[in-house]
Amino acid sequence: MGNVRGFLDFKRVDFKKVAPKERILNFKEFTKALDKKEQEIQGGRCMDCGVAFCHTGVLAEGKEVGCPLKNLIPEWNDLIYKSLWKEAYKRLDLTNPFPEFTGRVCPAPCEDSCVCAINGESVSIKNNELAIIENAFKEGFVKPNCPQKYNGKKIAIIGSGPAGLSCATTLNALGYKISVYERSDRAGGLLMYGIPDMKLEKHIVDRRIELLKKSGIEFKVKQNIDSKDKVNKLLKEFDALILCTGASEPIDLKIEGRELKGIEFAMDFLSKNTQSLLETSKPATSAKDKDVLVIGSGDTSVDCIAVAVRQGAKSITRFERSPKRSLTRKADNPWPLKADVFKTDYGLEEAIAVYGKDPREYQKLTQKFLGKNGVVQGVIASDLKREIKNGKMINCEIPNSQKSYKADLVLLAMGFSGTEKKIKENFNIKLDEKNNIFTQNFQTSHKKIFACGDARTGQSLVVWAVKDGLDCAFAVHKSLAQ
Ligand SMILES: Cc1cc2nc3c(=O)[nH]c(=O)nc-3n(C[C@H](O)[C@H](O)[C@H](O)COP(=O)(O)OP(=O)(O)OC[C@H]3O[C@@H](n4cnc5c(N)ncnc54)[C@H](O)[C@@H]3O)c2cc1C
Ligand code: SF4
Repeated sequence: MGNVRGFLDFKRVDFKKVAPKERILNFKEFTKALDKKEQEIQGGRCMDCGVAFCHTGVLAEGKEVGCPLKNLIPEWNDLIYKSLWKEAYKRLDLTNPFPEFTGRVCPAPCEDSCVCAINGESVSIKNNELAIIENAFKEGFVKPNCPQKYNGKKIAIIGSGPAGLSCATTLNALGYKISVYERSDRAGGLLMYGIPDMKLEKHIVDRRIELLKKSGIEFKVKQNIDSKDKVNKLLKEFDALILCTGASEPIDLKIEGRELKGIEFAMDFLSKNTQSLLETSKPATSAKDKDVLVIGSGDTSVDCIAVAVRQGAKSITRFERSPKRSLTRKADNPWPLKADVFKTDYGLEEAIAVYGKDPREYQKLTQKFLGKNGVVQGVIASDLKREIKNGKMINCEIPNSQKSYKADLVLLAMGFSGTEKKIKENFNIKLDEKNNIFTQNFQTSHKKIFACGDARTGQSLVVWAVKDGLDCAFAVHKSLAQ
């Protein structure tokens, strides 16, 4: 190890961020990398702790501990500290096929599990990862991974999100001829049409797709596999089908007034904006001059807020059912579990800067949409409190707490309820009790059809989808080799 005292000698320095009021003037990524020498010092903060939890990659009590991909973090931290950037890239590439995606959008459970984070600031693992891969692209280290020879077997992958891409990459390298079918006009799944440009510019996704094409993978876009006939044709042509179709069935809020115009699913709002940027270099305008209400509290809601701010919303409010989180870890959420603490993510930071107030309203229950002439004008919501009933913590409505709130654009960002209904019928496969595709070792109830990513696990994270794609590839390889 280069510098075992680095965590004492050097302070954590993150990528610089453009100030909120400046960055909302466009849809570009707003972090600026450190220069190479500064980043090398950050690698030197890794303390060679012996039992490195940062790369454990397990789920404990429903929370991640360390990197799901088991990235060899201490090793590449040390390599960049020693200015061995090519070796660091080679080490990173062993476990992570797409560090340029995770280095931008991963919530970095590795950093919560870093030993330095027990009583100080973790190593800047995510920034180090991104610096390694961007340097590798710049220096020309990243090359197409073409198979040495094809084994004569063909596989169709349905869906080109991170799970489909990682599964395709691995099976291609193992010698299978891979065709990826994607119903959108562009490959990338939620990397392309879900996560906004500010977190992941779309030329970064295209750069990887081009590399995968050069490595021999065929991409067929605008190909919706949406009928039994199409599925049967694929089953005849290919040795296996792999469903990487995501978990895109949105959770709806079926209350009075839901039919009013101006109530949209978050994904429709976000994808329209990205589509408009891609086609015209201009954003959509659906939030311009509107009082926007976002219902839901996850990443998607933050992205909606960030896009609405940039489109010029008049005001933004976010309703969530949970109480405000505590600033520090609670006793039931100890290190090295992913920290469940109060955070102000980028879109919230921007809303605070622009409107002078935090948009978050906690413990709200939306009860009714109000409208005029068929268009939404507001909502009625009441307050919730937490009570223990039969040993379980539940949300209870506070009597007479109803209030009305103004809103002429309501975005429903309450998550997803699993795989789309027609997948089950068209592919003739079973779903599990959570509406995800039922699998045993990645094989569905149809022996020639496999599944991975959000389609199998439910809505998750890019890093988990990538891992599921890798694991599925090896399961399919084993099954086809028999
Ligand atoms: C708005 C939003 C923001 C997010 N932000 C983050 C983030 O910051 N960090 C993070 O880690 N995770 C984030 N996530 C979660 C992450 O994007 C997903 O977990 C991940 O993309 C799942 O990958 P996947 O490959 O399983 O599915 P997806 O990315 O959903 O890809 C599925 C693909 O399959 C295609 N498809 C579906 N059915 C068919 C069919 N019948 N025929 C052909 N093609 C089909 C779809 O068009 C889509 O392209 C976010 C999710 C959303 C919705
Ligand atoms: S993929 Fe995520 S968890 Fe793994 S090292 Fe990168 S930022 Fe950390």
